[in-house]
Amino acid sequence: MELWQEMIRSSVHTVDDLVEKFSIDREVAERLDEFFQARINPYYLSLIRYPGDPIWLQCVPDIAELEDIDAPEDPLNEDDMSPVPNITHRYPDRALFLVTSQCGLYCRFCTRKRKVGDQSKISMRTLDSAFRYLEQHTEISDVILSGGDPLMLTDSMLEKILARLRQIKHIQVIRLGTKMPCVLPHRITPQLCEMLKKYHPIYVNTHFNHPWEITDVSRKACGMLVDSGIPVGNQCVLMKGVNDNAETMKELMKGLLAMRVRPYYIYQADLTKGANHFRTPIRVGLEIMDKLRGHISGLAVPQFVIDAPGGGGKIPLLPNYVISQDEEKIVLRNFKYNIYEYPDVREETVSTDASMFMRKTPRRRTLQKKDKIKKIKIPVIQNGA
Ligand code: SF4
Repeated sequence: MELWQEMIRSSVHTVDDLVEKFSIDREVAERLDEFFQARINPYYLSLIRYPGDPIWLQCVPDIAELEDIDAPEDPLNEDDMSPVPNITHRYPDRALFLVTSQCGLYCRFCTRKRKVGDQSKISMRTLDSAFRYLEQHTEISDVILSGGDPLMLTDSMLEKILARLRQIKHIQVIRLGTKMPCVLPHRITPQLCEMLKKYHPIYVNTHFNHPWEITDVSRKACGMLVDSGIPVGNQCVLMKGVNDNAETMKELMKGLLAMRVRPYYIYQADLTKGANHFRTPIRVGLEIMDKLRGHISGLAVPQFVIDAPGGGGKIPLLPNYVISQDEEKIVLRNFKYNIYEYPDVREETVSTDASMFMRKTPRRRTLQKKDKIKKIKIPVIQNGA
């Protein structure tokens, strides 16, 4: 057994563990276990600094989960978009391929907790129909392995899946959605990296939510993946008490970039049953983005998105940088709240006998002095726009 597998075995998992470790009332612990079991491996447990800290909140079951009874179990409508078991096909050229129900940590905010940890919900026995679906759908060029966490499979099981995917000619890109580099970085071994290298192009999207998750071990794990030619991106979830302020997010994004992990998304928390206590007002996410863009390298600035309830997909949200806009110009503010004008290109309406249509050819004219981009100093407005 490999070290990471032993660490999974030593996880905080049972009702007794919850009572002993976290002094949770036994009756509450039993109800929480029934709702969504716990799994906290010793590595992630060691990152907790004090009760209720940002690491604790992500992994220790909380009675608040039981009080949230109205939110949907499948907020993103993944099950309705599942043409065959193990596959969710939402976007035209991409498919989500669920290959295991197991994870290195059971995150309390998980959107897929209706399936996670339950082998009957994501079964290896139904992989064949999933492969057949991918073979038949030639429009799919990008497959995201998820679950659960695909790196909970052994190297040989994962290799069988990758090898079969690589036999499907129209699949160009394979992505692994894995939290292991963050929650159990010992899973990233030289053997795993050697195996993955054979199936390029492979991308990894991982999931760090807080700067305390960046440690020597996780740095090394991400470095090993990148050194194997695997671009690593990060998606994080904005959560109350975990990372809902600009300073924490700045530190996280800069820390990720410094270990060659490209910040990709900040998600507004989904409306998942049992996770309502993590949700923040949308304003908070916009204010954080306002304090990232321009203040840290653009490479470290992710997109802030809402995964639309009901399966509408990811929709980006930006702070408002547009003060006004007319036919002549757009008036913008920058990250310091200075205001600038930029002259627009006019679109002319042209009438013909047959039809009316918009011609988008620019009206050429020499840039006049008045057209030059003007910089107007205004006082800095805190959290405005
Ligand atoms: S690792 Fe991902 S799928 Fe597993 S519990 Fe955490 S958020 Fe859910």
